[in-house]
Amino acid sequence: MAKFDNSFTDELRQRLSLIDVISRRIPLTKKGQNYWGCCPFHNEKTPSFSVSEEKGFYHCFGCGEHGDIISFVMKSENVDFKTAIKELADMAGIKMPEIKHKTPEQIQAEENYIQITENATKLYQDLLYTDSGKIALEYIKKRGFSDEMIKKYRIGYAPKNSIISSKFSDINKDKLIATGLVRVGNYGLYDFFRDKLMFPIFNAHGQVVAFSGRSLDGSEPKYINTTDTELFHKRQTIFGFNFARDAIHRQNRSIVVEGQIDAIQMQNHGFPETVAPLGTALTEDHVSLLCKSNRNITFCFDGDNAGQKAAMRACILVLPFLRDNSDVRFAFISGGKDPDEILKNQGESAMKKIIDNSVPLVDFLWDCVNKNYLTNTPNGRTQAEKFLKDCLSKITDKILQNEIEQEYNSRKFNQWHKWKKQKDTPESELPDIDNMTINVIKSVVQTYPELSEKYIDFLSSLNISFDEYAQKTDLSLESAEKFVVSFKLQRYIQKLNLEKKQLLSDMLNGVDVNPESLKEIDKNVIEAQEKLDLLLDMNNK
Ligand SMILES: [Zn+2]
Repeated sequence: MAKFDNSFTDELRQRLSLIDVISRRIPLTKKGQNYWGCCPFHNEKTPSFSVSEEKGFYHCFGCGEHGDIISFVMKSENVDFKTAIKELADMAGIKMPEIKHKTPEQIQAEENYIQITENATKLYQDLLYTDSGKIALEYIKKRGFSDEMIKKYRIGYAPKNSIISSKFSDINKDKLIATGLVRVGNYGLYDFFRDKLMFPIFNAHGQVVAFSGRSLDGSEPKYINTTDTELFHKRQTIFGFNFARDAIHRQNRSIVVEGQIDAIQMQNHGFPETVAPLGTALTEDHVSLLCKSNRNITFCFDGDNAGQKAAMRACILVLPFLRDNSDVRFAFISGGKDPDEILKNQGESAMKKIIDNSVPLVDFLWDCVNKNYLTNTPNGRTQAEKFLKDCLSKITDKILQNEIEQEYNSRKFNQWHKWKKQKDTPESELPDIDNMTINVIKSVVQTYPELSEKYIDFLSSLNISFDEYAQKTDLSLESAEKFVVSFKLQRYIQKLNLEKKQLLSDMLNGVDVNPESLKEIDKNVIEAQEKLDLLLDMNNK
């Protein structure tokens, strides 16, 4: 385990409020000296999880979990000490101290590496403005890059001949090979990048650790990147992150686009918080890196099939990182264009519109499911449900998982079954329906579709999910209908009584209430009660 100065962890504890950190995950309410909430470490409905800001500790009286701000992050996010510290440092906006666990040899090797890539960057930069770099320079200018942008991103040109292996020949072979810039061939070393437009890839400190080279003669692949080295791991590196990091904090959001040139153009035209994965698809490490700043990400993809697929992949990857206050969205550009073209041809405002029209994750996932499965058939619904369930299970924030599940349940009910929604007295004010009744109603709906049709308005007002499998009922059609009607009458009476209670309390509060409406309610209650009695009486015969 990495060792940190105690003073650093103390500073974290001092700078951050335990209440703030915990309430990002679970709602807390103040009672007496402490704050209380439902424990995130065991399943419970009544809060037994207590947090003391003053003491800097939390304690669960239900399961015994106990700890401080650091152990909370470690346990609730299932991360190691170092990651927890890092995350807290990001929240507090303070820099992590350097961990000194590297050997002097390692440090020396890294310094050599950075020195070589730095020199190579300078060389490539110079070459862009020579005769051999003419085509490359023309190309990048045509893509809308100003000299200023070329300078800022340190864009350069790797010529057709092997320049690194010849110009850097005084440097130890192994050191050169370690940077990925040269390779060993039959006749000695040769350059990995030849005749390419060169985009340096920076680490978080702004040092060049690798390159991405774009072909200029139309050959495929369009981009080649340095293969992974000691200091460069493609799956963990996001292009443009070193330039975007401050903006990601400031704007409290990151935008992820597909290409490097797109990312640069976005950064320079109103969206400094934009980054791009490196030629590869997005990885979990990319998402994790972005989520260290905040958990608000807008993914911007091509509107075609491949873009939809990439978006779905991003969505699945991001699910475990979602928190209650995360804002993850998906924006799509139609017509096979990319952000670069939109910015060039239609301007920043058009791009802003696309970003503003992005779809929240919950809606995106729902739309995908409805596009990919035939939700108007029972079989399609079963598959769609399974898919949604799999997705939801990836959300680690249990409260959020529950909320989204409920949202989808209500969408399934209202959209898949196309049942009309009743809009009078909010059903939620009525007492909860007991499980036994719910089960009977479910079996009745399952067994007698004709009854569900007939009482559709009433049944759909109950907010019961009829989508799961229910056992068939033993009741005859007649008894089943009596059950539904009597239940409907009971609910009606409850509703009337609620209205009456409301009117009486209004009266007590000095609101002018028409006495006629009270009488009307009483009359309706009596009528409904008589009907109910009659029905139940007949039932007994
Ligand atoms: Zn607990």
